[in-house]
Amino acid sequence: MKASVTNMTKTVFLILLLSQLAFRLLLHRLSAKQVDKPLPESVADIYDADEYARWRRYNAKTDMLSLISGGISLIVNIFLFCTNVLSWLYYALPGGEIAKAILIFLIMTGVDTLISLPIEYVFNFRIEAEFGFNRITPATFLADAVKNAVVGVILNFVIFLLVYGAYALFGAYFGIAAFLGICIFVFAMSAMSSVFMKLFNKFTPLEEGDLRTTLCTMFAEAGFRLKDIYVMDASKRTTKANAYCGGIGKFKQIVIFDNLLNHYSDAEITAVFAHELAHFKHRDTTKMTLFSLLNFLPIVAMMTVLMLVPEIAQSFGFAEPSILFAFYVAFGGVLDIVGRLISIPFNCISRAMERKADTFACQSGYADALVSALRKLHKDSLADMNPHPTVVALTANHPPLHERIALADKWCQKHK
Ligand SMILES: [Zn+2]
Repeated sequence: MKASVTNMTKTVFLILLLSQLAFRLLLHRLSAKQVDKPLPESVADIYDADEYARWRRYNAKTDMLSLISGGISLIVNIFLFCTNVLSWLYYALPGGEIAKAILIFLIMTGVDTLISLPIEYVFNFRIEAEFGFNRITPATFLADAVKNAVVGVILNFVIFLLVYGAYALFGAYFGIAAFLGICIFVFAMSAMSSVFMKLFNKFTPLEEGDLRTTLCTMFAEAGFRLKDIYVMDASKRTTKANAYCGGIGKFKQIVIFDNLLNHYSDAEITAVFAHELAHFKHRDTTKMTLFSLLNFLPIVAMMTVLMLVPEIAQSFGFAEPSILFAFYVAFGGVLDIVGRLISIPFNCISRAMERKADTFACQSGYADALVSALRKLHKDSLADMNPHPTVVALTANHPPLHERIALADKWCQKHK
């Protein structure tokens, strides 16, 4: 009986992990097929023949690296979640559950960093450097890795404490309290994302001038009093450009990458901010953050099952269920495929929000400048001009460029 439970549990974990690989391979196959299809007319002239060949090489290399990275994490996860290594580690470590949690988070983050660092090194210093995007120095690269690891351990540990506390207080009924605790904490952290960004980048107020006056007037007319508009030193890491409205509530922040500021016209930048202003007006960041909290439902449900059915923990060599084991399994990658599936409807909502924000920029009088900025942004980052529709439906949080251009064109035809 016990052997059959063990086999069944490990088989279910293995299927969940392998379905993540199947999902990645499906995306890879669809994208590979799409590469040879002719480009939609509205984006066909963005790359010339040489640039298109360059994009194909860039796309093939980044895709291959992502497959290799996915393959390595799959092997590590199969080793962690289909063997008894977690229980061996659990009993080998000294102290109670909380001390063990700190040590396990430190060990696992160290292992994660050692695995991901070579992949990120190849991405930045080989691929991005070969195509002229990389600006990051080895010193900043290492500093980023250390900061990410420290922030990761702290956030993981706080979430673990919330789950641990909920179990200590409510026993078998800990799920609801744990879910609410995690949601409040993660929402607060997302709201304060602008504070975390300061660990990695410098933010300086946008200089006085025509652009600043135009942007401040645009936000003021829409009823938003801005504390400031900040320029982020993105060029420290990449040549790619962007802008965003981050944070929630009083932590809201308007940020422009220095790359965008230095290489785009004032009209193009204003069009990008008209789009960002729409996200503010429609409270899109808050809505998407709230939606994303639903990702924790299957995680908490899995932890509850792992605590209620002792045979599962015993299948992995534990004498009895442990919150640390349940936490690590549920957050550790076994449920990645479930997260991927949950994100499909969220991405669909996100693409709808992007279309609404583009329409708002058109209504504000920036249709031409928006199209010009989007074409440039896609070209400058060697973006895929014609992603497979199924890949878009499964993974994209923005509509493809040709759809955004078609939307702006349609709006112009209707209103001219
Ligand atoms: Zn947007």
